[in-house]
Amino acid sequence: MAEQKEGRYEESELYRLRHSAAHVLAQAVMEMFPGKTQIAIGPPIEDGFYYDFGLPRSLTLEDLRKLEKRMRQIIAGKHEFARSEASVEQARQQFAQQEYKLELIEELAGGDGDEAAQLQPQAITFYTHDTFTDLCRGPHIGHTGQINPAALKLLNVAGAYWRGDENNAMLQRVYGTAWRTVDELKQHLWQLEEAKKRDHRKLGMQLGLFHFSVDVGPGLPLFTPKGETIRHQMETYVRELQTRYGYQHVWTGHLVKEELYRRSGHYQNYRESMFPPMLDENVAFRLKPMNCPSHMTLFREMGRHSYRELPLRFAEFATLYRYEKSGELTGLTRVRSLTQDDCHIFCTPAQVESEFALALRLIQEVLQHYRFSDYRVRLSLRGEEGKYLQDDEKWLSAQAALRSALDVSGIDYYTEIGEAAFYGPKADFMARDVLGREWQLSTIQVDFIQPARLGLTYIGEDGQEHTPVVLHRAVTGSTERFLGVLIEHYAGAFPLWLAPVQAVIIPITDRHVEYCQQLLNSLQEQRLRVELDAGSERMNAKIRKAQVQKIPYMLVAGDREQQTGTISVRLRSGEELKAQTLEQFLALTRKTLAAGD
Ligand SMILES: [Zn+2]
Ligand SMILES: [Zn+2]
Repeated sequence: MAEQKEGRYEESELYRLRHSAAHVLAQAVMEMFPGKTQIAIGPPIEDGFYYDFGLPRSLTLEDLRKLEKRMRQIIAGKHEFARSEASVEQARQQFAQQEYKLELIEELAGGDGDEAAQLQPQAITFYTHDTFTDLCRGPHIGHTGQINPAALKLLNVAGAYWRGDENNAMLQRVYGTAWRTVDELKQHLWQLEEAKKRDHRKLGMQLGLFHFSVDVGPGLPLFTPKGETIRHQMETYVRELQTRYGYQHVWTGHLVKEELYRRSGHYQNYRESMFPPMLDENVAFRLKPMNCPSHMTLFREMGRHSYRELPLRFAEFATLYRYEKSGELTGLTRVRSLTQDDCHIFCTPAQVESEFALALRLIQEVLQHYRFSDYRVRLSLRGEEGKYLQDDEKWLSAQAALRSALDVSGIDYYTEIGEAAFYGPKADFMARDVLGREWQLSTIQVDFIQPARLGLTYIGEDGQEHTPVVLHRAVTGSTERFLGVLIEHYAGAFPLWLAPVQAVIIPITDRHVEYCQQLLNSLQEQRLRVELDAGSERMNAKIRKAQVQKIPYMLVAGDREQQTGTISVRLRSGEELKAQTLEQFLALTRKTLAAGD
């Protein structure tokens, strides 16, 4: 399919509309608590917006209804959103009573030494509508009347630390959503309800897959035997596939000298996301936050490389540690210990296109296997700014190679100029789950910088030393996050190949336990993950329990089955199949597994 011209959400009208709705909300809240409202930040987010407030009391659901009503009145006033520029001093005066805004103003003034702020000093701008003025870069819609009052809803209030830092004040975050039409709003509300039912934190408990413990620490999940079984299946699947695609697996441990990250540039760009150093006789070590420097060092230590050995593809399931702010940790989708299905491909510049194409094919195969059929690629290219390495030839040829491979692949893709990493262009896969939510999963990034920084070379056809290009590639991102996404995508009903328990055998009474035990042995010999429920509950209770666990097959056996050497097969959907012999059931599972279901 041809390249889509669809722009970024950040540039869409819906984005401006939601941002404007956030301002209208802030006005309504300030009117509800005159002189006692501290306003923090209020950005648009995916599917809606929020605004954070410091208030004298907790907001109730009734307050939200009142605020909505007031917002509709403000909307009806068709107040223009007017932009104005201000000096730092004017901004300080305007927001003299607003402690959070003052903090932001001091930052804009360059007071915190933030490099980016100094390089590109932002002009301070205000946006005003009706009686409300916000410190804001915009952009906004023309006037409040452009918000559809019937397609607007305030959803809930949640606690949120100022700047996501638990050492700061706890604010009240009001979430809202705004759409162009009432139908769009309804569709979104349905999606939210369904997402609640599928919440992987809730389902993960129900299915007994993982726990978080205050004794271990936030964002550090503990997986039960069932949870680990799924992890193992996921990783084995990708590992075998990678081997088939010519990848080799390596292992590079969990601790690395901090010095290596200084040389690779991660220390300068990524320090905030690393756990604090461990000192051993004045040598600092870090828990590994990414694999690249380790894989590249391994490449170098393996001795001189000839162009004939390239491409070399090093893959590793490595558990990495990232210092995510504790306020931003959510279930498995945002954790501090994550296991990446990471790979680094060392190749010559001429091999970039074919290696990229190979990685695309591998990722497509994986997404299809996990039943993601709706996905597209965001191709991030170099912009004009100075952050990009000035080597036009390398950039242009790599960007052309990526485009050309994408064109051949038939994958839907769109480009974003200026979104590339400083070290090279990249392609991210955005996949929609069954609820239509888009997740960023796989990524392939071209890197012109780290290989040179870490002194990697190969001997080219010309007998001279050259620096290889490295492609960074992750298929599912991390096992933890992807498992969280999968639980919601499948609503906990894992396909047979992934299900931690594939079948449970249920004897109708005690006298059938022995027959069931024989069945269990036979099925386990065939490497199926089967359990026998020989507990004292009644049969119907056991079936219900298995259904809650979303076990694909329930195999019930009583007198009739025992006499005829069969089993009665029930599916988790409640459907009952005819009585089957063991061979028939095994044939059914083999067929299902072969189909990848
Ligand atoms: Zn704003
Ligand atoms: Zn990497």
